[in-house]
Amino acid sequence: MSEPDCDLLVVGAGPAGLGLAAACADLDLRVLVVAPHPESRWQPTYGLWLDEAREAGLEGALAHAWPRTVVRAGASGRRTLARGYGLLDNAAAKEALSARVRAAGGDLVDGAVAHATAGRVTLRDGRTITAAVVADASGHAPVLAPRPRAAGFQSAFGVELTLGEPPAAEGAMTLMDFRDGGTPGAPTFLYAMDLGDGRWFVEETSLVARQPLGFGELEARLRRRLGLRDRWPSTPRAVERCVFPMGAPIAPRPRDAFAFGAAASMVHPASGYQVGPSLVRARVVASAVAEARARGLAPDDAAALAWSRLWTRDRRRQHALHRLGLAVLLDFELDDLQEFFGAFFAMPEGRWRAYLGDARAISDVERAMLDVYSRVSPRLRWRLTQAAVGPARHAFAVGLGLLEDPAR
Ligand SMILES: Cc1cc2nc3c(=O)[nH]c(=O)nc-3n(C[C@H](O)[C@H](O)[C@H](O)COP(=O)(O)OP(=O)(O)OC[C@H]3O[C@@H](n4cnc5c(N)ncnc54)[C@H](O)[C@@H]3O)c2cc1C
Repeated sequence: MSEPDCDLLVVGAGPAGLGLAAACADLDLRVLVVAPHPESRWQPTYGLWLDEAREAGLEGALAHAWPRTVVRAGASGRRTLARGYGLLDNAAAKEALSARVRAAGGDLVDGAVAHATAGRVTLRDGRTITAAVVADASGHAPVLAPRPRAAGFQSAFGVELTLGEPPAAEGAMTLMDFRDGGTPGAPTFLYAMDLGDGRWFVEETSLVARQPLGFGELEARLRRRLGLRDRWPSTPRAVERCVFPMGAPIAPRPRDAFAFGAAASMVHPASGYQVGPSLVRARVVASAVAEARARGLAPDDAAALAWSRLWTRDRRRQHALHRLGLAVLLDFELDDLQEFFGAFFAMPEGRWRAYLGDARAISDVERAMLDVYSRVSPRLRWRLTQAAVGPARHAFAVGLGLLEDPAR
C-alpha cells in the first residue's frame, strides 16, 4: 500500500475514540477521527474518578471535582471514600483531546463510516480514507465490530435543579445511596452531585436489570425519594435519560480493525463505568499502534497487535469475572444489594478499586471477590454461591482460567 492518509483512523468521536486519538497523537501519530458532526457537544453527564482524569491529562477539563465520595448502602450507614470524583466538562474535555490530535497533524472529519477493508475506509457518502490501522470506537452499536448480546441494561433518569433541602451529603459526590426509596419492584439508587449554591444533579439509577426501567417510572421514583411528588421545585436545567447495555462478552475482533470503548465491551460489566478506564487504557493501545507503525505492519496485523495489548489473557479473565459479578447483581433484591455494597465498600480501598477496574492482575479481582464473600451474611453467601454455579458458571470458569473465552 502507498503511504496511507493517516497512521490511525478512529471511527467515532465519543470519549473513547477521542481519548485513543489523543493518546496516539501524543506519540506523534497522525490520527483522523471520523464521526457525524464530530465537533458537537457530548450530551451525557460523564463522571469519573479524579485519579483517572489526572492520568488521562484531563484534570483541567472538569466542571466539578469532589475530594470525597460518599456511599450509603447497608446497615453500615454512610461511608466516605477517600477517592475523589469528577464531573467532566464535556466541552473542555472534547476541546482538550481534539487539540492534542490536531497538534500532531491529525484532524476531526465530518462523516459516517460504512465499512473498512485492508486499511481503506469508505464513508457513506462514498469518500474513502486510507489508514495504517483502523479503530472502531463507534459506541454501543458498533459499525465495524460485531455486537455481542448484552446481559442487561443500566438505566437512569436525572435532573439538574436547585433544591432547598440537600438530598445527599453536602460538598460531596454521592456515588450510590441505596436506602429504600419507598418503591417496590426492581431496586434503584440515588446518584447525587452537589454542584454548589443549592444546585444538584440527582439521578435515579437502575444499576443493572434484564430490561431497562422506563424513564417515567424512574422519574416518579426520584420525586418520591426526594419527597417532591407533585412537581419539581424549580425547572430542571438539564434532564438526562440514560440507557445502555451491560455485561456483553468481548466480541471477536473484526477483520482489518480493532474496537475500543463501548464498541469493545469496555463498559465495566458490573458497574457501567467506561469513560475513565478507556481514557486510561488508551495509552497502552496507543503504544501498540505506534509499535505497529514503526514495524510497518499490515492493517490487519497492526489491529491484531493493538487488540492483543488491550485484551491480554489476564484482562479477558478479569472481564469474565466482572460478568459473573453482573450475573449476581441481576438477581438481587434491594436488601441483597444494600448488604452487598455495604460489604463491598467496607473493604480496604485497594480491594474495591481492583474490582472496579484497577486490578494489576486477575488475582487482585479474585481477592476482592473472596473478601466480599467472607464479609456478607450466610444467607447472601449462599446466594453468591448459587450464582457462581448457576447460569454464570461459564463466566466463572473463564475467570478462573478453567475455560478459554471466545475472544482469543
Ligand atoms: C446518558 C449516559 C450517561 C453515561 N454516564 C457515564 C458516566 O458517567 N461514566 C461512565 O464511565 N460511563 C457512562 N456512560 C456509559 C458509557 O461510558 C457511555 O455510553 C460512553 O459515551 C461510551 O463512550 P464511547 O466513546 O465508547 O461511545 P459514544 O460516546 O457512544 O461515541 C460513539 C461515537 O461514534 C460515532 N458514530 C456512530 N456511528 C458512526 C459511524 N457510522 N461513523 C462514524 N462515527 C460513528 C458517534 O457519532 C459518536 O461520536 C453513560 C452512558 C449514557 C448513555
